[in-house]
Amino acid sequence: MTSTTTRMTHVISDCCAILAKIFREGRGYEAIQTATMVQRLTFRRRLSYNTKSNRRTVVKTPGGRLVYHYLKKAGKVPRCGHCKIKLPGIEKARSIERSRMSRRRKMVKRSYGGVLCHKCVKEKIVRAFLIEEQKIVQKVIRAQAAAAKGKKNKK
Ligand SMILES: [Zn+2]
Repeated sequence: MTSTTTRMTHVISDCCAILAKIFREGRGYEAIQTATMVQRLTFRRRLSYNTKSNRRTVVKTPGGRLVYHYLKKAGKVPRCGHCKIKLPGIEKARSIERSRMSRRRKMVKRSYGGVLCHKCVKEKIVRAFLIEEQKIVQKVIRAQAAAAKGKKNKK
């Protein structure tokens, strides 16, 4: 009997020592609460698995409770359709968010802006120009050949 009472007094004195230490450090009542127990948090939605769509942070309410705040999935920047680099000058967003955004935030003012990067557009323009030039050259050569043939026939 005496042994149990002495054990109890030991436990009580230990607790008192901890409390005294906390107050000496000036952390107050909140510190005691956190030191003695951790608040258990519960999900606020029905989804109970730790999935990508169930990401959350712990936030302290004005009332001092801890609650989960759910996070939205991270958005992505669209990539160039040809070389697959991230398109500069365009904000990252989820597709549903993007549908609500203004045009200037999801494209750049250029032909193929928001679809292809500037290098790929340049290459596309140069290539088209060269192909057209080649066609003209071929036409000229053909005309010259025809003219030469006509001269020969006249002789
Ligand atoms: Zn590109």
